[in-house]
Amino acid sequence: MHQERYSRQELFKPIGTDGQQELSEKHVLIIGAGALGTGASESLVRAGVGKITIIDRDYVEWSNLQRQSLYSEEDARKKMPKAIAAKYRLEQVNSYVEIQAIVADITYEDLLKYAEKCDLIIDATDNFETRFVINDVAQKLELPWIYGACVGSTGMSFTVIPGVTPCFNCLWETTPPTGQTCDTAGIISPAVMMVTAHQTADALKILSGNTEALSGRLVTFDVWQNDYQSIGVSRMKKADCPSCGEDPTYPYLTMESAMKTAVLCGRDTVQIRPAEKKMIDLGDLHTIFSTQGLPVQYNQFLISITFDPYRMVIFKDGRVLIHGTNDKTEAKKVYHRVFN
Ligand SMILES: [Zn+2]
Repeated sequence: MHQERYSRQELFKPIGTDGQQELSEKHVLIIGAGALGTGASESLVRAGVGKITIIDRDYVEWSNLQRQSLYSEEDARKKMPKAIAAKYRLEQVNSYVEIQAIVADITYEDLLKYAEKCDLIIDATDNFETRFVINDVAQKLELPWIYGACVGSTGMSFTVIPGVTPCFNCLWETTPPTGQTCDTAGIISPAVMMVTAHQTADALKILSGNTEALSGRLVTFDVWQNDYQSIGVSRMKKADCPSCGEDPTYPYLTMESAMKTAVLCGRDTVQIRPAEKKMIDLGDLHTIFSTQGLPVQYNQFLISITFDPYRMVIFKDGRVLIHGTNDKTEAKKVYHRVFN
C-alpha cells in the first residue's frame, strides 16, 4: 500500500489516521448498482473502506452510461451484470478493498443474511417496496442505513439510525402513490451526484466514528430550480411504529412483500420472478433457442432472446425481464412461450 494513498483524507481532522484505520475495518452493503450505487461504491472504495458488498439484479444498458459512473461502452455491449461490471471497475480503482458482487433480485431473507455481517447499508434502489424491506432489516439488526432517491433534477437523502432517528416507516408509513418516476421525468447526473455526496458524507461520518456530525435531518433539493432544504423530522418518530417502535413486528420481513411481477422504472420492461428459486442452465437454453433460429445473445450470467417486438433476458436464478412492454399480462404471455 502506498503511504500517501489516504494522506489527504487523513489530513482532514475529523477523520485523521484513527478514523482512516476505522474505515479500513468496516463492511458496507450497497443495495443497487445503478446511478446511486455506482457513485456510492466508487467514493467508499476510493476512501478505503475494508469491504463492500454490492447487490444488483440488472445488466448494463446504453441508457445507463449517461449517469452510472462505473460503466463503459464495453459493459453495455456485453450486457454485463451491473454488480459484476462494478466489481471489476472497483478492483481497478482500489485493489486493497474486498469487493463482493451479487447478481440477484434481493429477497428479505437474502438481505438479512448479507446485512448481518455489515456495519452500514446504503440504499441505492429505485423502488419504495425494497426500501421498506431494507428499513425493517436495519431495525432488526440495529444497523444504520442511508436512504437516497433522485428523479429529474431533484433528490432526497436521509440517514436512519435505529434507536435515534425516526425510521423510513415513521416518515412514510405506506408506499406513496406512483407519481413522477424516471419514466416521465428522466434524470440528470448532477441530481445523482448530489444524493451520492450526501449519502457518502454520512457514510464516512458513521464509519469513521463521527456519528455526532450527523444532522438527523431529511435533505431535499432541486439542482435545476436552485432549491435546497434540510428538514427537521425528529418529531415524526412514532412510539408505536411497527418497524422501530416499542413493540416492533417488522411487517416487511413477515409478509411476502416483494411482488412476483414488477414493472421496472423507466424501462418499458416487466420483471417476472418465479415463485420458487431454481438455477437455470443457460448453456442448454442457448442451444434450444439457437436450434430454433431465434436471435440469441449469451454470456455466463444471462441469455437474451428476441421475440419481435419483445426481448427476453433470462438470468441464471430463473428471473426474467421482458423488454418492450409495461403490461404485466402481456409480459406473462411472452414468458409462457418459454416457461410453463
Ligand atoms: Zn419507525
